[in-house]
Amino acid sequence: LDINVLPTGEDSKRFIGQVIMLRNVTPFKELDLAKTHFMGTVSHEFKTPISSIQMGVQLLENDRIGNLNDEQQKLVVGIKEDTLRLLKITGELLNLTQLETGVVQLNIRPSEISKMVESVIAANQSAADNKQISIKFKINKNVDLVNADYEKTSWVLSNIVSNAIRYSYENSMIEINVEKKEDQIKFSVKDHGYGIEEQYLDKVFTRYFRIPGTKADGTGLGLSISKEFIEAQGGEISVQSEIGEGSTFYFSLKA
Ligand code: ADP
Repeated sequence: LDINVLPTGEDSKRFIGQVIMLRNVTPFKELDLAKTHFMGTVSHEFKTPISSIQMGVQLLENDRIGNLNDEQQKLVVGIKEDTLRLLKITGELLNLTQLETGVVQLNIRPSEISKMVESVIAANQSAADNKQISIKFKINKNVDLVNADYEKTSWVLSNIVSNAIRYSYENSMIEINVEKKEDQIKFSVKDHGYGIEEQYLDKVFTRYFRIPGTKADGTGLGLSISKEFIEAQGGEISVQSEIGEGSTFYFSLKA
């Protein structure tokens, strides 16, 4: 039920009374939920065909079914990048619908950090290569496991690394660091990119928010989903940034 209480009359000196409006919003909420479910089904249905396009493109790219000339190779690289973009968006929509319908299930277990970081780097390597960006990874010797949902934490890390690449200058460096502080594992991803103005530091974690003037493609969903995934696991996520210098995203989880 949507309840609105309004004072009557513009003349606030004279109190006349109140108008109370009651509106049954159940049908709207039901429609909203139906739309969200539909979005979830569509993005789920998109995943399989997009993944098979990706596999086909990989075969073509590696000359596994014949040699391609330069022009064909360029075309294949273009298709590969578009496919990755589609996969990113469908992943975001799927996660969003799971969060909105409350069906997110966490599978918290001891997870290998190096394996996670290395596969996230591998997944983002070609985007980094396109901008001649190198990715360095450092982990403290005494750290190997984090008690976390492997898939969701990988997704968060990949989203932050993909942002670091997209919002950085060519020929720059991204540093991923993992260390243990007391009972917490702290991940940080430092880029030497465009940076974020102070007024936007909190806002980047809200849904659909994109810094005005942001040129690279995107939905404004990645960081808000990341925040929910980290907080659902009892962790924290934050950012420090200096405009023109770069940004560092941090998140911490239980060891
Ligand atoms: P998307 O990247 O799809 O727009 P995100 O939620 O991941 O959505 O990020 C929200 C916004 O925050 C981005 O549109 C961009 O303006 C800004 N942003 C995120 N990461 C960085 C970064 N590493 N450096 C500069 N700006 C960033």
